[in-house]
Amino acid sequence: MNKTKDRIDFLRKELTDLNYKYYVLDQSEVSDYQFDVMMEELKKLEKENPEYDNPNSPTHRVGGQITKIFPTVRHERRMYSLDNSYSFDDIKDWAVRISKSIDETVEYVCELKYDGLSISILYENGQLIQAVTRGDGFQGDDVTHNVRTIRSVPLHLKGKYPQRFYIRGEIIMPKKSLEKLNEDRKKEGLEPYANPRNTASGSLKLQDSEAVAKRGLDCYLYYVLTDDRKYSTQWDSLQNAKEMGFKVGNYAKLCSNLDEVTKFIEYWNTERYNLPFEIDGVVIKVNSISEQEELGYTAKSPRWAIAYKFKAEKVETQLLSVDYQVGRTGTITPVANLKPVLVAGTTVKRASLHNEDFIANMDLRINDKVFVEKGGEIIPKIVDVNYDKREPGTIKLEFIKNCPACGTPLVREIGEAAHFCPNEKACPPQVMGRMEHFVSRRAMNIDSVGAETVSMLYENGLVKDMSDFYTLKKEQLIGLDRMADKSAQNIIDGIEDSKKIPFEKVLYALGIRHVGETMAKKLAKRFKSIDGLQKATLEELENTADVGNKIALSIQEYFANPEHLILIKKLKDSGLHFETEDSQEEVSHILEGKTFLFTGKLTAFTRDHAEELVEKNGGRNISSVSKNLNYLVVGEKAGSKLKKAEQLGTVKIINEYQFLELFENEGINLTE
Ligand code: AMP
Ligand code: ZN
Repeated sequence: MNKTKDRIDFLRKELTDLNYKYYVLDQSEVSDYQFDVMMEELKKLEKENPEYDNPNSPTHRVGGQITKIFPTVRHERRMYSLDNSYSFDDIKDWAVRISKSIDETVEYVCELKYDGLSISILYENGQLIQAVTRGDGFQGDDVTHNVRTIRSVPLHLKGKYPQRFYIRGEIIMPKKSLEKLNEDRKKEGLEPYANPRNTASGSLKLQDSEAVAKRGLDCYLYYVLTDDRKYSTQWDSLQNAKEMGFKVGNYAKLCSNLDEVTKFIEYWNTERYNLPFEIDGVVIKVNSISEQEELGYTAKSPRWAIAYKFKAEKVETQLLSVDYQVGRTGTITPVANLKPVLVAGTTVKRASLHNEDFIANMDLRINDKVFVEKGGEIIPKIVDVNYDKREPGTIKLEFIKNCPACGTPLVREIGEAAHFCPNEKACPPQVMGRMEHFVSRRAMNIDSVGAETVSMLYENGLVKDMSDFYTLKKEQLIGLDRMADKSAQNIIDGIEDSKKIPFEKVLYALGIRHVGETMAKKLAKRFKSIDGLQKATLEELENTADVGNKIALSIQEYFANPEHLILIKKLKDSGLHFETEDSQEEVSHILEGKTFLFTGKLTAFTRDHAEELVEKNGGRNISSVSKNLNYLVVGEKAGSKLKKAEQLGTVKIINEYQFLELFENEGINLTE
């Protein structure tokens, strides 16, 4: 007997079991601490004894694998979508159609329609083998590493299971997970995610499975597919899925007539707000598998199932007043203050009014009765005005003419929807907003200086723009609002440390209008230094991937302002990085001197990945078809760019796989 192997097996079994109880059954038996201790021991043993490694060990739940490109996998059996219905009449019609082919009384299984993204997971001999997204129904992306980190997805099965089968279900982001994620984002000064489904889908496509593990995704399963027909009903297959250790939930109901189906729908239409996750409807399935087979499929969906979609809840309330917020780039956002009202389970008090046109198009007036809706988005929308209830004598709502913070006349540029305050230099929310952005985590990452410190420093006249951070002295800080020696030192240290931040982040930190994090990265790569960027012509800027005319103009405008040049000079003198370190990131030079452009819908990889690959291998991405373009890589439904390239005749036109071959032929490994 091998003691180490025994111990490893024991720990794996214990941890798997505890994990199952906690994440699938919602029971906790041991403290987090005990769990962690066992996990640490297992990790250590696996590290010391790599011969026992196993991809389905509970240690793999925390992730660590990077997927550069998610390989495309064909579904052995197509993943259909569902027919939608919005009324009980639709359901009745559907049942009548069924009764034309089936003589018996039909039993139905009603299930929740989880609002996430569907997934197909392959198990062989009780082990998780592969997880693939739905994609276009015929082929999807292999996201196995990322799915392994979802705690409720079993890595190996319990009880009796078919030797080989697929199970399908929905990956969702529970309300709590999204809240937590958004709290973190808020702390970092990032926009919160608005929609749980999109966030779930974005999370599953992160390259780093460790980051996926932290997102708190969950997975509910609802369909078992075996080669031989193992189950006689959908209901039985759900019960068996539960026994195998899958999270199925206890929401499904077996119904013997349409009345029961209707009751199920009505119940969940209101009760859905109390669920820990979002649903967008109910799915009704014919229970008997032989009846399902008889009914078959249309070109797009099974005839034996139908989705009933809930309508977004629309509630009437009153518009009390309008506030105008000033963002860090001076953009003015009108915000409605509403009479508090319960919509989709949460109290709504405010809603964005977007801009002047939105207000004008709706002809909104103070005291109007308005309809507020919460669809898949977290932020409520005003969708309509109840004009019948309008009080006489109300007057059109006028957009403000002056900045609410500094009084400067507002500007609205031609072609722009938003107003902005041009008093960039002295408008307090702009000045402070810029500095908050500057110190934020993804920019200069000075975490000893938060929003409160920024406003304190500003109000005490110590910091008027970001360059002043670098001349601050500890003595100036001590004594400010009970600031202790230690916190003052922390601030000074944090600022000093930030001098090491690389150019791409410094560029982002400057807060140039329309230059976000990704854009800053691209610009830094292409132009190498702030001087290079400043010298770039409009054409050169526009010829950089994704830099459109609007961004190019905004960059030129930024450098045309002498105050910005003074600011940059001061920051340079303080020792900040304004050049890229010679990029050690380059993998090869095989694409040296070659230019690329991607068009159409890519399926083998995302456009960002592809562009990164080009750059890391010495090539360059450009944004339009011209004589300067060497390769046009075409995905599905490529349009005008493809035509133009064909007309030019000088461009090599290749598909995604031929693009990948460029690397593989050179022996470059694209997956890690
Ligand atoms: P739709 O995307 O509106 O066409 O709806 C079809 C999708 O609903 C499927 O692709 C599944 O991802 C999803 N779905 C959610 N819950 C269920 C369920 N209980 N049974 C079947 N499909 C479901
Ligand atoms: Zn202002």
